[in-house]
Amino acid sequence: MRLIFLGAPGAGKGTIASAIGTERGLPQVSTGDLFREAVKNGTELGLRVKGIMERGELVPDELTVALVRERLGRPDTAKGYILDGFPRTIPQAEALAAFQRIDGAINFRCGDEVVVRRLSGRRICRSCGAIYHVENMPPRREGVCDRCGGELYIRDDYRLESIRNRLRVYREQTEPLIGWYRGRGLLHDIDSEQTVEKSLEQLRPLLAGLRS
Ligand code: ADP
Repeated sequence: MRLIFLGAPGAGKGTIASAIGTERGLPQVSTGDLFREAVKNGTELGLRVKGIMERGELVPDELTVALVRERLGRPDTAKGYILDGFPRTIPQAEALAAFQRIDGAINFRCGDEVVVRRLSGRRICRSCGAIYHVENMPPRREGVCDRCGGELYIRDDYRLESIRNRLRVYREQTEPLIGWYRGRGLLHDIDSEQTVEKSLEQLRPLLAGLRS
């Protein structure tokens, strides 16, 4: 089954893609993760996208499409995949449609207020990378990691300024994809403002009804 997960940053698509991918044996293909890995490894691609990502802007379509095309050519995607964070623009969707038949696009609906609350509350441990949330998953002691006692901090792209920019980019460039996929009979909506479990409860029967 070939799936696309659409939704604002913080809508929960990455978390749900990981859970449902494990359940159904589908690899989660996250362009954000692929780009972050390139930055970490200091590859040529990484050097080109580092600043773009820090500002919360989009990587040029050409680079992104080439990356996804290469990734979807690997054998683990032969039985299907979940695309998380791609496509993000209409030209990316058009490029994808030219070489892949998609079974469904899932739209994780989530309002700005919830997104900002989720992302701005995120805290990460400097030592072990564990993730917390000041409201939903607080550490036992404020600012201190439960697992290793390390210091918790706010990653640069979870600062309010960057979150607002990513949301604006999402509304302007990615939201039009909802209509694009709806017009092709491929769009399915999920209410993603509640818990992860509630989203999974909506998604499972929906996927069972999809042709693949
Ligand atoms: P978020 O944390 O906003 O959900 P991701 O982890 O999916 O974002 O991606 C992080 C960054 O990587 C984006 O802000 C953007 O710069 C870049 N990126 C990821 N996917 C794409 C894409 N399909 N097109 C262009 N840029 C992308």
